[in-house]
Amino acid sequence: MFDKILIANRGEIALRVIRACREMGIQTVAVHSTADSDAMHVRMADESVCIGPAPSTDSYLSMPAIISACEITGAQAIHPGYGFLSENANFVQMLEDHGITFIGPRAEHIRIMGDKITAKETARELGIPVVPGSAGGVDDMAEAKRVSAEIGYPVIIKATAGGGGRGMKVAQDEKGLEVAFRTARAEAKAAFGNPDVYIEKYLQKPRHIEIQVFGDGKGRAVHLGERDCSLQRRHQKVLEEAPGPVITAEERARIGKICADAVAAIQYAGAGTIEFLYEDGEFYFIEMNTRLQVEHPVTEAIFGVDLVRQQILVAAGEEMEFQQDDLKINGHAIEVRINAEKVPGFTPSPGRISQYHAPGGLGVRMDSALYDGYRIPPFYDSLIGKLIVHGRDRPEALARLSRALGELIVDGVDSTVPLFRELLAEPDIQSGDYSIHWLERWLDRHYG
Ligand code: ADP
Repeated sequence: MFDKILIANRGEIALRVIRACREMGIQTVAVHSTADSDAMHVRMADESVCIGPAPSTDSYLSMPAIISACEITGAQAIHPGYGFLSENANFVQMLEDHGITFIGPRAEHIRIMGDKITAKETARELGIPVVPGSAGGVDDMAEAKRVSAEIGYPVIIKATAGGGGRGMKVAQDEKGLEVAFRTARAEAKAAFGNPDVYIEKYLQKPRHIEIQVFGDGKGRAVHLGERDCSLQRRHQKVLEEAPGPVITAEERARIGKICADAVAAIQYAGAGTIEFLYEDGEFYFIEMNTRLQVEHPVTEAIFGVDLVRQQILVAAGEEMEFQQDDLKINGHAIEVRINAEKVPGFTPSPGRISQYHAPGGLGVRMDSALYDGYRIPPFYDSLIGKLIVHGRDRPEALARLSRALGELIVDGVDSTVPLFRELLAEPDIQSGDYSIHWLERWLDRHYG
């Protein structure tokens, strides 16, 4: 087992990893930018290294700085968290060359899943159901029209190099396609430096259902059921729950086995998430994330496992501590993402936290790096906390969420906390009757 792990991240996820390390008796190294000298992850780690100025390109994304920090402190492994370098195959390669262990899958798997076309092809070959669409990239208008007519309108044009919900355009008909195709390519080039796009059938009212998988890197893999992340704004998740309110035990077992078998076949190592759109009882693969997800705690709650601990064990060459038969669902969990943003525009709201009080009590988990007087820097993601509740069933989880939101105090900046209080009053949220478009329509109705 490792003696010392460096966490190449910040905020709540850095704390999450430090906590797992501490329980395993592993020393931790935090890295930080000059803007994060007072951050909680720096205070909580055993050691810390400043790796550069505020912009993440010069700090949290600086591979040489992070590798030097490993060498100076003697850290043997790096946990990347999510975002930043977590899905950067070149980084993984570079670590290997320096004899540092990456806590995550092999570079080759990150590379395959990082390119959406290769990912979809691989998924299809592995027996995973995919969304109907173009066979590969589509680079001219004539082909775009032909493919779209074949799969039928509406269609969605997506960037091959896409991520974070960016670079997607919907076309209702051939006329709309002309504009959508051109803008999607231009946006993809601007955002990802790569104009390549592909086309898929646009599903009208799907749910976003994702399967958590975990592999030992030697051909054994399990699934940990699904998370329903349909409550989204601009393709960004806002609330997640597990199990999915509309997924049956049979559906879970079927799609779960397909996913576990697929990752076992490629000897995948560590945590991964296979994302699907779900409509009328059918699952359609959209992408695979080769890392720990923001919303992993809802899965941890219902299965009673520590996914970060398992990631560390597998990276160290040890066995994961569960087999498929050990994994039984217990109750229901819901996570809400607390962002420092002003609703309804969701504009970032950095600044000083004048008062912070975390909720507690039975079935409540608050993952956050906030503290009284903390100044949220304007340079990074606006996620400042995740409130996760667990109950015996969905109604109990909802009641607990409402109670916990009542206790939570985040003063000094605008946040999404009031939004969740409003959402909980909605009958559709109470009953679980929402698709990926529900939230945007609700926001339109409420704030116009
Ligand atoms: P990203 O990597 O940018 O997050 P995804 O492929 O995961 O992109 O898609 C993000 C979201 O976009 C999905 O959760 C869904 O809301 C929407 N979406 C993607 N593909 C389709 C599709 N074929 N039909 C309808 N909505 C889609």
